[in-house]
Amino acid sequence: MVDCYCGERAVFDAGGPLCREHFKEWLRKEARKELSNYVSKSDVMAVAVSGGKDSTTLLDIANEWSRESGTEIFAICIDEGISGYRDETLKFIRGFCGSRIPLHIFSFAEEFGKTLDECLAMEGDARACTVCGTLRRYLLNKYSRQLGATCILFAHNLDDELQTLFMNLFAGNLPQISRKGELVGIIDHPQFVVRMKPLIHIPEKALATYALLNYEIPDVECPYLGESSRTAAREFINSLESRSPGSKSRLMGLYLDRILPALKPEAHRIHEDLKKCARCGEPSSKEVCKVCEFRELFKLV
Ligand code: SF4
Repeated sequence: MVDCYCGERAVFDAGGPLCREHFKEWLRKEARKELSNYVSKSDVMAVAVSGGKDSTTLLDIANEWSRESGTEIFAICIDEGISGYRDETLKFIRGFCGSRIPLHIFSFAEEFGKTLDECLAMEGDARACTVCGTLRRYLLNKYSRQLGATCILFAHNLDDELQTLFMNLFAGNLPQISRKGELVGIIDHPQFVVRMKPLIHIPEKALATYALLNYEIPDVECPYLGESSRTAAREFINSLESRSPGSKSRLMGLYLDRILPALKPEAHRIHEDLKKCARCGEPSSKEVCKVCEFRELFKLV
């Protein structure tokens, strides 16, 4: 790679080669721009963290931004109960937050009476990420709301977001497609805390490089992460990018500027159809929400 414009050795190409310091400055600026666009001084930010590279980077930058803007912040982490994986990342995130950033941890075991490992032992790993994601989102929304957050920040990056878009496109899932973007889901409901994704314009590779330069993230991977429709979407998008560099950013621009606005009526319809789950009272598009379906299936409390 050629040198940065300052003459130092470049570590990343972000539309031009950048050295370590200019790359860090570029990435922080990109994330802070999104934070300023969507978060106001009176907000209370809950940052959903896992102890991985993306959420640690988001928490670090959001914390720096909160100190300057006077916006309140706390970190929230869900312990799903995945042995050999979550313990390591929890240890890291506890150390990272220390006494600087308030950290709240909630677990599947305490809330539902079973860990994810125990649930999956009952019916196999095939739906691991669906069960995990559904229960985790439920806890993040419920406890962020109880802790007074006005928004939850998620660390989804450009690659994550495009993969989800293509997975939903392949599955013909229009409702899901209409609910993505920087502001996610139902954004005007008393029981839903607004979800935001300040990193969705930043490629995964840039965040991995940033984390490598700044933190000692534990080198562990979730054992349930396997071949999936996400892998197929990732390969497809990466092949587009290598054939036509810039495809990822162009696709994201097209999605946010053209496709999402055109799907607004679909998003409104979902909002209007929203009910209260007959069992737990949390918002649901059906009589009984997905979390309560899983409660029954796995005999949770
Ligand atoms: Fe949960 Fe799947 Fe992520 Fe593992 S890979 S933490 S099971 S969502």
